[in-house]
Amino acid sequence: MKRDYYDVLGVSKEAGADELKKAYRKLAMELHPDRNPGNKEAEEKFKEAAEAYSVLSDAEKRKVYDQFGHAGLGGAGGGGQQFQFDPNQFADFEDILGSFFGGGLFGDLFGGGRRRGNGEERGSDLQYNLKISFQDAIFGKEAVELSIPRLEACETCHGSGCEAGTRAETCPQCRGAGQVAVRQGFFQMLAPCPRCEGRGRIIPKPCRTCHGEGRVHKKAKVSFKVPAGVDRGTRLRLQGQGEAGRSGGRTGDLYVVFDVEPDARYERDGSDLHRRFEVHWPLLVTGGTLDVETPYGQDKVKLAPGTAADHVVKLVNAGVPRLQGGGRGDLYLHLRVAVPKSLTAEQKELVEQLRRSLEGESAEGKEEGFLAKVFGSEKAKKKKRK
Ligand SMILES: [Zn+2]
Ligand SMILES: [Zn+2]
Repeated sequence: MKRDYYDVLGVSKEAGADELKKAYRKLAMELHPDRNPGNKEAEEKFKEAAEAYSVLSDAEKRKVYDQFGHAGLGGAGGGGQQFQFDPNQFADFEDILGSFFGGGLFGDLFGGGRRRGNGEERGSDLQYNLKISFQDAIFGKEAVELSIPRLEACETCHGSGCEAGTRAETCPQCRGAGQVAVRQGFFQMLAPCPRCEGRGRIIPKPCRTCHGEGRVHKKAKVSFKVPAGVDRGTRLRLQGQGEAGRSGGRTGDLYVVFDVEPDARYERDGSDLHRRFEVHWPLLVTGGTLDVETPYGQDKVKLAPGTAADHVVKLVNAGVPRLQGGGRGDLYLHLRVAVPKSLTAEQKELVEQLRRSLEGESAEGKEEGFLAKVFGSEKAKKKKRK
């Protein structure tokens, strides 16, 4: 059931215009969505009060309401006189609250932001996907030049869209508001004006170069610097390099989104680099110095004797520069044992010798150390039998 409008505002049926306004204003302040964020009940009550006030503050509608109730206003089960809602009345509402809340509220609550005045429209943002080399991503690049197709302000009319000596006029249909009221049930929603397409202004004599658009398609050269450390998906915002605005609206921005070519040696994880690094196992056994190439040049890494075959060597600060926070990430060398496919006769003999030596040692060692304890020494038993 729809509540009685007088009850909603908490006034008597005899209330005058000032009393109505006062009561509505008090409620609106109390229930305002800015004061009750996320409170659906307050929002509904706020709309209810706005609706009640929109009817009772209008002498003609009030008369119909007094006589026929809600039905008289063409709501559910209507049949009464139909009303056109005047968008300017919404403007009055905003003015009542505007000084307290900065206005714009009715656009938010009742659909569609109300464009004010001159049809200003910000230009679109543009996106350009740029693939760069692994090296450029790490070290950056001083100057990259792109050719960007975009809408720029028309030079003939300087963006006004009007032929020389003429000017735009306020749209007669929406009287410059850019929006007109559209009926939805009882309530009126604001929709873009069909005559001026929501701009609030019409151009009687369009510029011949841009046909009234105020903007023309052009290929623009945009150059910028690639900062060191960009990664796949990094977005670089070039302010004011997007499309020109309309009727004096701000120019949009250009976003360059990077993709980075993979590298055969390095795998990148944020600002860290990872690399598989093959070493001959004797070096792991004896320890020694490893010559390593990093993106920044040659480096030397010391390995301790008995280094594990899956050891990871961390080279601090040899990774990718951080875009934020400064410094660099690290380089991780994931050691792998290089197993040669072919050996010289001499190498083969040396390895064989070593293998026999190590096997003999470990067989003895293992049995005496571990098996012997559990099962008794088989070898020892065999020896005894002999
Ligand atoms: Zn219009
Ligand atoms: Zn033009």
